Order: sequence, then C-alpha cells, then structure tokens
Amino acid sequence: MNIPNIDLHCHSTISDGLLSPRSLVSFAAEKNVSVLALTDHDDIAGLEQAKIHADKLNIVFINGVEISVTWNKRTLHILGLNFDASNQELISGLRGIREGRLKRAERMADSLGMAGIQGSLEGAKSYVHSNTIGRIHFARFLVAKGYAKDIKTVFKKFLTKGKPGYVEHEWASLEESLGWIKNAGGDAVIAHPGRYDLGKKLLPKLMEDFKSYGGVGIEVSSGSQDPSQSNFFAKLANDYGFLASCGSDFHGVGISHRALGGIKTLPDECIPIWSKWTKI
Ligand code: AMP
Ligand code: MN
Ligand code: MN
Ligand code: MN
Repeated sequence: MNIPNIDLHCHSTISDGLLSPRSLVSFAAEKNVSVLALTDHDDIAGLEQAKIHADKLNIVFINGVEISVTWNKRTLHILGLNFDASNQELISGLRGIREGRLKRAERMADSLGMAGIQGSLEGAKSYVHSNTIGRIHFARFLVAKGYAKDIKTVFKKFLTKGKPGYVEHEWASLEESLGWIKNAGGDAVIAHPGRYDLGKKLLPKLMEDFKSYGGVGIEVSSGSQDPSQSNFFAKLANDYGFLASCGSDFHGVGISHRALGGIKTLPDECIPIWSKWTKI
C-alpha cells in the first residue's frame, strides 16, 4: 500500500514558484504532507533552508531538483531525487544551465522587442527572487503590463513555440544530467512523462535511452498531467523496470493545477521510488 501524503515535485521562489522554501514547507505541513521533495528548476539553493524547516515540522525532506534537458530536439524535465546537495559536479552542471537561462532570457527579450514590447528583460528580472530566470518571470511581467489577461493566455500568445518571445534553447543533454544525478548518489526520474507528446516511436526510445544512462523512475502521478494517464505510465514503468514517483508540481496557489500534497496515490501495481530510500 502507498504511504499517503508524499509529494516529490514542487517549486519555490528559488525558481518559478510563489512561496519561499521556508513558506512552502510550512504550507506542506498545513496540507499534512509527510514526505516532501523541493524540486526547483535547475537550482538547489533552496534545499538547505527547506530541510531545516522541514526537520522542525516533522516532515521527511528529500533533496530534489528539476533539470531542463534537450533530447531529440525536445525539452524534457528530469527530476533528481535524494542526492547529496554538496556534490560539486551537480552544482557546477546546474550553474551552467542557469547561465544558459540568462542568455535565453536575453534572446527572448530581443524577440519580444521585435514584436514591439520593450524592457521585458528588466521587467522579468524584477520577478526573479534568486538566480533562475524563466518563462514564468516574463509571463508575470507581460500580465502586469496588460499584454494578456492571465498567465495561461500569456503563454499561448507569447511564450510557446512559434510565438514572439519563444526562442529555441539547448539545455543539458539527457546523458550528462543523469550523470550528475547518479554521481551525487541520487535517483533520476522523468517528470510528467505525459506532457511531451512523444508518439509511438519516441516514447520507447526515451525509455531505452533513459534506462541506458541509469534512469531509475518515472513520475506516474503528476499534477501537471492528466490523471487518466496514470495507469498507462504505471504499466510503462513496470514494463521497463522503472520505479514510480508522484508529485503535485505545485508552483503556488492559483497558478497550479494541483494543490501541494494533492497527489496521494499511485496505482497499486507500482513500486514506489521511496521503497529504496531508507529514511522513509
Ligand atoms: P522554462 O523552464 O523557463 O521554459 O519555463 C517552464 C515553466 O513555465 C514550467 O515549469 C511551468 O511552470 C511554466 N509553464 C509552461 N507552460 C505553461 C503554461 N501554458 N501555462 C502556465 N505555466 C506554464
Ligand atoms: Mn515551473
Ligand atoms: Mn516540469
Ligand atoms: Mn515542475
């Protein structure tokens, strides 16, 4: 049986969430989360603060990160879970991705400039609380300036493929990201596998590549994919010998599909990723 209230995917102000790591942990306690991983995009700067606070609130805290990866010309998100956060190779790999984010942001601002929107780099930066700039920060600026009525619309109008403000970007490779996670003693998990629209050929190819580079799990239940997909991914996990993870992908009240701690169960046939973690 699954242990309830395990949430292994959420974001703080260290990346594109709305709550500080400390507030996020307090909020998790309010929601009766008993095991929490903070998984900011390409940044682990929030883990120490979150862990200190989680210890006080009796929440089992798991180190996490959501790494941006380019595989077969697509962007994938790979979760690293339960690693040593002092690992230098991981730290410098993530720093490289964040530097790439800044360069991408400059190109996004140029692209928006050509569409007649000035000052978006400075505007987006004003919403950044740490060192990780992303599309959400541009989205918040664009909504504040009245270019769209809400975040959802702004992504549709500006920040997705083919729209002004969207630029192609080369993230880390799948192989190197899994290398960083493994060398830091962690487990690599494919985040929200239902969101990549891979089709019949690429999905097995991803499973095989992921396995061959040392991937361990897939996120069977995710707040950012349709719950009806869970059974499909549970079977896929079992077919390829992957463990199953679950997480809300919570970013903040009002901007997430699912509440923090709102993903509670994995299909019965799954072997949960935490079955190999001694602290749970
Ligand atoms: P980035 O990694 O900077 O390209 O930004 C990706 C993040 O933008 C995701 O993790 C989500 O938080 C957010 N995002 C992407 N697409 C949408 C959307 N359609 N509506 C709202 N947020 C989105
Ligand atoms: Mn995000
Ligand atoms: Mn993601
Ligand atoms: Mn996420």
